[in-house]
Amino acid sequence: MGKKGCIHNLEVVYKIVDTCNLACTYCYYFRGDSYQGHEHRPDYAKIETTTRLVQKLCELLQEYEVQELSLILHGGEPLMMKKSEFTAHLSIIRKALGSVPIYLQTNGVLLNEAWCQLLNNHNIRVSISLDGSQEWHDKHRITVAGHGTYHRVLKGIATARQCLTQEEVGIISVLQPDFDYQHICNHFSKTLGLNTLSLLIPDRTCEPPLSEAEVQGYSQALIDAFDFHVSDGQGQIREIASLLENFQRYNVNHHHHNAQTFYPDDRVSVSEVLTIHTNGDINYYDLVYPEVVLAQFGLVNREFNLADVNLGAMIFSDRLRAVRAQAEAVADDCQTCEYAGLCYQTAPAYRATADGYNSRSVYCQVNKTLYQYVVDWLVANGYPTELIDLALKGAPSPTAQPLDHSLTVRNAYE
Ligand code: SF4
Repeated sequence: MGKKGCIHNLEVVYKIVDTCNLACTYCYYFRGDSYQGHEHRPDYAKIETTTRLVQKLCELLQEYEVQELSLILHGGEPLMMKKSEFTAHLSIIRKALGSVPIYLQTNGVLLNEAWCQLLNNHNIRVSISLDGSQEWHDKHRITVAGHGTYHRVLKGIATARQCLTQEEVGIISVLQPDFDYQHICNHFSKTLGLNTLSLLIPDRTCEPPLSEAEVQGYSQALIDAFDFHVSDGQGQIREIASLLENFQRYNVNHHHHNAQTFYPDDRVSVSEVLTIHTNGDINYYDLVYPEVVLAQFGLVNREFNLADVNLGAMIFSDRLRAVRAQAEAVADDCQTCEYAGLCYQTAPAYRATADGYNSRSVYCQVNKTLYQYVVDWLVANGYPTELIDLALKGAPSPTAQPLDHSLTVRNAYE
């Protein structure tokens, strides 16, 4: 039987634990509007919820072509679950979904040898949150009693590096406009000897806009990260590597401007992120499609539950297609922007207002400053201007062929 549609890339964020051992000051999940709904959810997912989740995913894989599927175990803090329970959940997932990539995001405080062994057993790749050296990290990542967690996280990272079988432990930092990233990047690379860092730009919508100090702070932070990435002997920043990849994917011999066609016209393809809560409620990833936008399409998060949903029908429903179409459309104010090809690779939530997505990114000025800095750097380093122009226009690259012009710096794609 033919498949009903194609899902290019499906990320399932499974919030297997709905409580946390820390009280980070910027936590979007346990503070502010997102807190809504926690009272209806158990702190820990039950086995029935995981069983339902894998049943629904297996049904989806049968009915639809899913080219890439990954599962991200998230919280709260997932390591607060008892190890025996965690093992039971993971056994169900692995039995049903085989070798599908599974990632785990942790604050690292509880990570010990026993956990590492368990995570190795289920082939789970781990990322740990660390915001910088102690003076920076402890500003926001604190315990409920208000104590900094830097030393405990560092201990977790050391254990992970010693005991996990994965090649490199992922480190994730939430970008802060008032932090010093010259110092922080050097701390990660030189002091801690970490090779790769992810700098997460905070999810936010257009309202309220950034203050002038935030615009300056984020711009400087990203420029410092870029300078570090292209000059440091060891360290890499994933987000800068992705940005540079936009320039590198053009092969000078293939100036195709036609949209790449993956699928026949009658088969719509999508990329999707779904968040599953401990009670089986489903969010269309709140950070991509904020409630304020969903409401315009008659949608609310947690409208569906694993108990009675067909995931494919939900993903391909007219209402969700309409949200995605609007999220992907170039806003009126961006039509003539020379950086649209780069900027529209970033999260639609940044462009969300109470009226939809027809707006510049909340990070517009930050992006423009960074992109111009990168373009200037590429030009100064002799990178062909015709390839820069292609990347700025966002012309689709026809193939993943090797580069004719490689950058003169070491990067993530070598
Ligand atoms: S940089 Fe600003 S104007 Fe340009 S595409 Fe992004 S949001 Fe739109």
